[in-house]
Amino acid sequence: MKYIKYKKTCLILFLLSTLILSACSGPSPSMLPRSRKTKPLLGTIITAEAYGPDADKALDLAFKRVGEIEDKMSQYLETSEVSLINQMAGQEAVPISEDTYFVIKSALDYARKTDGTFNPVIGNIVGLWGIGTDNARVPSQGEIDKFLPYLDYDQLVLTKKPYTAKLKSDKMKLDLGAIAKGYAGDEMARVLSENGITSAILNLGGNVVMLGKKPDNSLWTIGIQNPNEPERGEIAGILKGKNTSVVTSGSYERFFEQDNVRYHHIIDPYTGYPSENGIISSTIIAESSTKADALSTAVYVLGLKKGLDLIESLANIEAIIITDDHNVHISSGIDDDLFTLKSEDFSYEKSR
Ligand code: AMP
Ligand code: MG
Repeated sequence: MKYIKYKKTCLILFLLSTLILSACSGPSPSMLPRSRKTKPLLGTIITAEAYGPDADKALDLAFKRVGEIEDKMSQYLETSEVSLINQMAGQEAVPISEDTYFVIKSALDYARKTDGTFNPVIGNIVGLWGIGTDNARVPSQGEIDKFLPYLDYDQLVLTKKPYTAKLKSDKMKLDLGAIAKGYAGDEMARVLSENGITSAILNLGGNVVMLGKKPDNSLWTIGIQNPNEPERGEIAGILKGKNTSVVTSGSYERFFEQDNVRYHHIIDPYTGYPSENGIISSTIIAESSTKADALSTAVYVLGLKKGLDLIESLANIEAIIITDDHNVHISSGIDDDLFTLKSEDFSYEKSR
């Protein structure tokens, strides 16, 4: 039953990849060769499309880079740096790579900027819920209370020379699941760019990265998922862009149901429960996919008003927030010609 759910999640992710890429590929008037590859990595399905004479080779190198990131940051590999940090929680500092240092440092920065709604030490509470695994269940309040006082991310200590990380309490657990895919997207784009690719689109399980423009010099076009119809792959709207990343956090991505209640994978660190505040999907548009990923999770937890206020306070970052009252809320910097509402399920509101 749970296995079926996992397979269903994979199918949704695959449909999502296909949906996003089919919205933007189409026949290209340019004669540039195209390469397209799909691989399961980082617990999701990654699809990448690149244009140029060396596109095939460049994509192989970009995927290889994601493999390196997975080896360092996966919670599911016992030998990863993140797993070692968790095994040594409350004991010792662990030597880490510059990659892991950078991602933890960024995670701490976003935790501080978002009042801890993005919280990289939430791993034990995420583990209690087990959402997306065979052990998904509703934990008791007692179990949640055991870990809730240990979400102080200031107790995750980094050093730079040498690079090390330490969790000061054995009740803390590092989880980079809300930011590592973003970093992997940035790194894929960097590797492609360094290998001469100027036009590519990547989809890491719903995290989209646009490198340059389409080969015919027009903007990329992607679908923003209708969070109420993920299995049918319907879109709520269409967004155009170039050289940017678009990352969505949604309750439809991973969840289980018990007694007709849906429990999803984005946890409110203030309660230890899946965040319930009216948001059903939050999409962030930013040049850095690492930033967009951390902020998509934070805005989901912050709620509409605080989430939009945060986005409006940050330069060059935009948001599309969908609420359970069927409204699509757009931050003020998204030009009208870049976002088009496509579903009659929703009405549209732009922040001023
Ligand atoms: P995302 O899909 O980017 O919003 O990330 C969700 C994943 O990040 C979950 O599957 C958890 O592993 C982890 N997570 C859940 N809640 C939080 C939170 N409030 N802050 C940071 N990571 C979280
Ligand atoms: Mg995220």
